[in-house]
Amino acid sequence: MKKILFLILFFQSCLFAQTNFDKMNKLYKSYPDFIDSASNNTIYFKDGSTMQFDDGVEKDYETMLDNPDIEDMLSMKYTPGSEWDSPPPKNFEPGRIRNEDFFAKMYGGSAKEVESNLVGIKWMPKSTNATVMITRVNGVDKKLKEVSDELDALPENLKKYVTTTAGTFNWRPIAGTNRMSMHSYGVAIDINTKYSDYWQWNKSMKYVNRIPMEIVEIFEKHGFIWGGKWYHYDTMHFEYRPELLP
Ligand SMILES: [Zn+2]
Repeated sequence: MKKILFLILFFQSCLFAQTNFDKMNKLYKSYPDFIDSASNNTIYFKDGSTMQFDDGVEKDYETMLDNPDIEDMLSMKYTPGSEWDSPPPKNFEPGRIRNEDFFAKMYGGSAKEVESNLVGIKWMPKSTNATVMITRVNGVDKKLKEVSDELDALPENLKKYVTTTAGTFNWRPIAGTNRMSMHSYGVAIDINTKYSDYWQWNKSMKYVNRIPMEIVEIFEKHGFIWGGKWYHYDTMHFEYRPELLP
């Protein structure tokens, strides 16, 4: 009996190690410019610094939002494409859990540091005269340009959702919280608010979305996740999070 119990515990811990191993590997492959390697519950950065991957602390959802380790960021599975669980179940929102130290390390820890890495890209140049500012760190500017080119080739009835944008870089906390918005790091873009829905505008939490999936899938293809797949939905919002995408 004892032997069986031991075996069960052994396989359980292997399974745990395996999933954490996969997650660390995904992170490493997503940010090759910064991460040198990942093993033994540690992320090794190219600048010689390290971060613990999993702090082993069980957290309720609010604590996880306020004080997540790297593993918590990857604890919910983001489903790309149109076959996702809509509306999102309570507090299911892959990507909304973010370890700020991790992003500050790559994109900058102050407005000034982030700004020094921003570049302008022509936004949908066949359809608008706009320029948007985005970070060049991790090649996010190149990814957003690829998004822009694909959006530019869409039929007119779909372009109206994206020709007008509502902001990229903005060093600020998320409204009503102490947590930094991903707009602070120059890796997020909001699309046309006229067709967008945001949970803070509709406190009943009833899920609403008017953004077509064709738009969402273009962003996802290039490493951006969509806030429309969150319980606390934000359908104008896209942010660069390749670690959550295939
Ligand atoms: Zn946003």
